[in-house]
Amino acid sequence: MFKLHFDNAFVRDLPGDPEQGARLRQVEGALYSRMDPTPVATPRLLAHSAEMTAALGFSEADAVTPEFAQLFGGNALLDGMQPYAANYGGHQFGHWAGQLGDGRAISLGEVINGTGERWELQLKGAGLTPYSRGADGRAVLRSSIREFLCSEAMHHLGVPTTRALSLVGTGEPVLRDMFYDGHARPEPGAIVCRVAPSFIRFGNFELPASRGDTALLKQLVDFTIRRDFPELPGQGEALYAAWFAQVCERTATMIAHWMRVGFVHGVMNTDNMSILGLTIDYGPYGWVDNYDPDWTPNTTDAQRRRYRFGQQPDVAWWDLSRLAGALAPLFNTVEPLQAGLDRYAATYAAADRANTAAKLGLAECRDDDVALMKSLHALMQQAEIDMTLWFRALVDFDAHAPTLTTFDEAFYDEARRNEAAPALDDWLARYAARLADDPLLPDRRREQMRQANPRYVLRNYLAQQAIDRAEQGDAGGIAELLDVMRHPYDDQPGREAFAQKRPDWARHKAGCSMLSCSS
Ligand code: AMP
Ligand code: MG
Repeated sequence: MFKLHFDNAFVRDLPGDPEQGARLRQVEGALYSRMDPTPVATPRLLAHSAEMTAALGFSEADAVTPEFAQLFGGNALLDGMQPYAANYGGHQFGHWAGQLGDGRAISLGEVINGTGERWELQLKGAGLTPYSRGADGRAVLRSSIREFLCSEAMHHLGVPTTRALSLVGTGEPVLRDMFYDGHARPEPGAIVCRVAPSFIRFGNFELPASRGDTALLKQLVDFTIRRDFPELPGQGEALYAAWFAQVCERTATMIAHWMRVGFVHGVMNTDNMSILGLTIDYGPYGWVDNYDPDWTPNTTDAQRRRYRFGQQPDVAWWDLSRLAGALAPLFNTVEPLQAGLDRYAATYAAADRANTAAKLGLAECRDDDVALMKSLHALMQQAEIDMTLWFRALVDFDAHAPTLTTFDEAFYDEARRNEAAPALDDWLARYAARLADDPLLPDRRREQMRQANPRYVLRNYLAQQAIDRAEQGDAGGIAELLDVMRHPYDDQPGREAFAQKRPDWARHKAGCSMLSCSS
């Protein structure tokens, strides 16, 4: 069997639930419950990440052994693993939801790899826990493929994210009502092993705070700083302030990346916000095809659109404000918390400007450039222009012969294009004039733009095609898509099909434009 070195700081240093077993309960005074995964019928490896496999010290040969599938299907444990489900709460869709916890995620342990990195292994869909709240503790194949692929795709795009090691089919059916319309059907089950230095969420702090348990809250804060933010200086309230500001800063950086690549998380509840500023909990997420700040992939959110693309920066601020509220008992005044939130706003504003400069290929973002980008966004929305294709085509824009034909591929609707063409031509002229006043050399400019404007993103319909194939028993599409997403900024000859805009059939198809939380 495999040998990994574990250092299970979370369960070692923090108080756990004395009760064993999966009986549903409110767990007070404890930050987790020890819980083993529930074995599955016939675990089979459907895909794995070569990078994560290597980072954890496994060989490629290890990954294809039956033991590997047993382990990451939840049927076996290694020496040193101490599985647990974390206890946390959260604000869901703007409302305090009380205790939530890992209802189907079970952490196996914290690996210290050969280079001293800490990687917590967590199975998603591993069976019942005390936090399952009447649900089954399982996950379906379609959503597991989506989480597996997107975790790794985001990493390769340079977006802070939790990672994915493996995707294991369980051989067991899972009953799901995909659109909550009374049409439940059995679907294939699967388990993703996701990996991160820490899975602590804003909600882990909110729960003890909501119960007035300041001692437990403080214990968790001290632990988090010690384990996950050891570089922070100071002590006492000054250290707490520096830490909160750091969380705000990282969150701002993450959101700016989402906005740069066109990622919509879909469920930015505070239990889905990582304290490390990592993208976490890939559920009904989606990728913007035609640029639309009002778009949300989440059908559960279709009415109010709280988690729509353009609102993500504001929602992150709101979520951080809830975290600030939870941390308030550790501070004598609210000023340091306010300063942290201000840090969020300042960091996001700076990152947003940096995105503008990078995406437009400018040495710096001047005040006028903010307006330039804003008018482009408005035109893109009005003319229904594909975000990824437009910005990538911009790399090839010739400022000496500006023409809209450079962007032919990016339009979804001829009528809308024609209507917006004069305004778009004006915009291109403005942009060409701006480039003439920018010091970057052409090669530098193109390189900068290529690094900011991906050729390949995990378009919703691409993931759905891999899912359709996998549900027919052919997992090949998952590895293929993962391989394309490994180099999202490179042109990959022969793989043009993966860079195409959303086909018409996918515009209103379930899984392609509409996703639910049912997973
Ligand atoms: P999510 O919307 O995936 O962030 O989940 C919100 C809460 O519901 C978390 O506490 C999850 O652990 C829990 N949950 C979601 N799906 C299931 C499931 N199939 N079984 C048990 N708990 C679940
Ligand atoms: Mg969640």
